[in-house]
Amino acid sequence: MSDVFPGGVPEFAPWAGPEPETGGPPCLAAEAAALDAADPLRDRREAFVVDAPGDPEGVVYLDGNSLGALPRGVAGRLAAVVEEEWGRLRIRSWTESGWWTAPERVGDRVGRLLGAAPGQVVAGDSTSVNVFKAVVGAVRLARAAAPGRDEVLVDAATFPTDGYIAASAARLTGCTVRAVPATDVAEAAGPRTAVALVNHVDYRTGRLHDLPGITGALHAAGARTVWDLCHSAGALPVGLDASGADFAVACTYKYLNGGPGAPACLYVRRELQPRFDSPLPGWNSHADPFGMDPAYTPADGAVRGRVGTPEILSLLALDAALDVWDGVDLGVVRAKSLDLTDFFLRCVERYVPAGRTECVTPLPHEERGSQVSLRCAGAGDVMAELVRRGVVGDFRRPDVLRFGFAPLYTSFADTERAARVLGEVVTSGPVR
Ligand SMILES: *Cc1c(COP(=O)(O)O)cnc(C)c1O
Repeated sequence: MSDVFPGGVPEFAPWAGPEPETGGPPCLAAEAAALDAADPLRDRREAFVVDAPGDPEGVVYLDGNSLGALPRGVAGRLAAVVEEEWGRLRIRSWTESGWWTAPERVGDRVGRLLGAAPGQVVAGDSTSVNVFKAVVGAVRLARAAAPGRDEVLVDAATFPTDGYIAASAARLTGCTVRAVPATDVAEAAGPRTAVALVNHVDYRTGRLHDLPGITGALHAAGARTVWDLCHSAGALPVGLDASGADFAVACTYKYLNGGPGAPACLYVRRELQPRFDSPLPGWNSHADPFGMDPAYTPADGAVRGRVGTPEILSLLALDAALDVWDGVDLGVVRAKSLDLTDFFLRCVERYVPAGRTECVTPLPHEERGSQVSLRCAGAGDVMAELVRRGVVGDFRRPDVLRFGFAPLYTSFADTERAARVLGEVVTSGPVR
């Protein structure tokens, strides 16, 4: 039951208020149009199935941090894969269509977007499964150097799956888990710490954590890092190689638009690969998988992160989806992302009566991912009404409205409209 709408989920009348400002300074709609006209990424939007800017009936999609929009090239590519590669070539496609090596090839394409040189990223399995591989692998590495390390630090605000998996990984390896706010992880690491699992961007608040700084502090303490990049992959430059990060996992169905349940990615820093002892040593990670050897010999390189037969259809859908990144500079993406979130915050300030929402996303750019989270009484009902009025964000219990900004397809016009409709919803309230 919400505070704003004590009667429960309300019925709203269609908005019948004034049109957006059309003149007189400062006009946010006009400013949005000017920002869109000057946007170096504006042409990328056409590569996605999204509504045309300015279409009053269209939907403003600000949930690309949960499920990225569909790139136009995917359907045709997938149809060809099904008809030609699967339908006609069948088993031959494992070699002739490059299926067998697709996990590393697609992994390298994602790697470029994460600041990882080729040969360190493999695509496959879910984020949850890759968190397991990385955490156990990191504990084993830390233990090999210092057997007394028996503590796994976990970002206290972590996306729950990471916490559940880390707890199980800790039980299996005889470690204890200690939950610590991400901002305190660097200080908390000590001689007993084997690994810290940290979310680069907090899924709820959109707070960006200091990946190089925390990694450096963990290394100084003799511990390893596992970074969860679900909310930064495709949203901002990550700089994995430059930071010396040990392990990382990334989701590909959020800002990378790979489609529902698209395979996730696992990064193992090159110099650690020979010592990476995977807890899921499936036959696809064997040095000679078709030798069918009863004894396990791990493959070298990123292949060691594989488990079983790759999920080819979703992997090749992701491959096609990644075409939208060709020639895109993550620095330009980041600049637009910050401009979008700054602009959204200004629009909210203008359109939403003071006190109705509270921004929980940090204002300093170096602490902000590519989303804005607003605490709002009755957030669940407010989001339901926003969606009904064509503005799709999402709601995280108990009271957070989340708006994700995907710089490849989110426009400033979308941003202005979303804030304006939010203002309308929180001021109009329920109609009886
Ligand atoms: C989205 C997300 C996941 C999702 O994990 P799946 O295994 O794909 O369900 C995990 N961690 C974080 C931080 C996420 O944002």
